[in-house]
Amino acid sequence: MARLTFLGAAKTVTGSQYVLESGPSRIMVDCGMFQGEKPLRLRNWAEPAFDPAAINGLILTHTHIDHIGRVPRLVKQGYKGRIFCTPPTRELAEILLKDAAHLQEEDANYLNRKGLTKHTPALPLYDQADVEQSMKLFETVPLGQTREIGSEFAFSFRDAGHLLGAASVDLRIRENGRDVRVVFSGDVGRFETVLAKNPELAPPADYLVVESTYGNRTHAQVPVEEQLEAVITRTFARGGILLIPAFAVGRAQQMIYLMHELVTKGQLRPFRIHLDSPMAIEATRIYSQYPLAHAVPLEQIGGRNLLYNKWVTQHRTRKESEALNDVKGPAVIVSSSGMLSGGRILHHCRQRLPKPENTLLITGYQSVGTLGRALLDGAKSVRIHKGDVPVMAEIANLKGLSGHADSGELMRWLSDGQPPPKRIFLTHGEEEAAAALAARIEKTRGCATHVPEIGETAELQ
Ligand SMILES: [Zn+2]
Repeated sequence: MARLTFLGAAKTVTGSQYVLESGPSRIMVDCGMFQGEKPLRLRNWAEPAFDPAAINGLILTHTHIDHIGRVPRLVKQGYKGRIFCTPPTRELAEILLKDAAHLQEEDANYLNRKGLTKHTPALPLYDQADVEQSMKLFETVPLGQTREIGSEFAFSFRDAGHLLGAASVDLRIRENGRDVRVVFSGDVGRFETVLAKNPELAPPADYLVVESTYGNRTHAQVPVEEQLEAVITRTFARGGILLIPAFAVGRAQQMIYLMHELVTKGQLRPFRIHLDSPMAIEATRIYSQYPLAHAVPLEQIGGRNLLYNKWVTQHRTRKESEALNDVKGPAVIVSSSGMLSGGRILHHCRQRLPKPENTLLITGYQSVGTLGRALLDGAKSVRIHKGDVPVMAEIANLKGLSGHADSGELMRWLSDGQPPPKRIFLTHGEEEAAAALAARIEKTRGCATHVPEIGETAELQ
């Protein structure tokens, strides 16, 4: 009998990792990093539950670090099989994993320099060489094509919306002459959102493993274009700078696209947008290479790089970034990181937050403990680079741009799978969110659900 073991993202939202076993064969779906509080982060260092050398294949749903962030560690520990993902996921994974290795190396160097480690020397989880080794194992599989792993497993990818390249995994396990069909949702995107296509609805399956990040919430309904137009209009009326912290992959491209739309529809006069993040510039290049992967025809936007227009200035070097200190409003600066936990956005905050004509526009979820969260919660003064910075600028919050389906949208995603599955496992959500979605599914669909623990194994019949 096939077995499914939940190694991460169980009663929490990070560290996605599942192992499926059938006879002597094993495959893994996702290999994500645990993020957030220290006890979770320590799990990244745990001994592997399965010998990496004995895993026959790894399938990645999408490129977020909580789904791919431990791939180089798995390879370092002996994984030698193929790593399957969609073509855009491979390209984005390369830039994100290199960045992750760089952060790991920086952290280890910092601990060693300051003598803050019990381990001498402190080591990174993995380094650039491990990333390079991992990239050699990648094999891309376009949406809808079937690929076999040994004689026991076959799978195909379905569009999950969410982010460029993001997919659900439709997997068949062949046992005793019959198929058990298991579908992993990956992260399910929103319906009718900015740039990303609608997620393909869940197909009929014996078992579903479904994310539940917002299993107990409903997203705001005010159209994001209206919210953005209002905040740009009032900031520019003050002659200010609109500062937008944005995740380099996904959110930065959505924001540029939204601003482009406001101008081409005649809602706003053209204005300067400064994109100050080498990773966002690189990700935008990749976004532009897949015009068919988006909900809108990128050709209409024009320019030498499809997502750019003549009003967007790219800032790659440190010098180009520092030159932005002299820029006067009205203008927009898009920079990362999205939660203001590091990166170039910090020097812009130091520069722009003390002035009342400026606005800082938060565009995504802000974790507890981040600078972004403190500002959203109304901090009047914040510490940046060891200095106190008074907050006189307006702090605004653009709601509804989440990359994740809310509770109703997850139900919509599940609506098509007839007959109902034998069981739906709810993962990738805090316990309350997963339990709320489980209850809603049981009530409306009448099929069995389960919220697994980390380390739990389920038998699939
Ligand atoms: Zn994701």
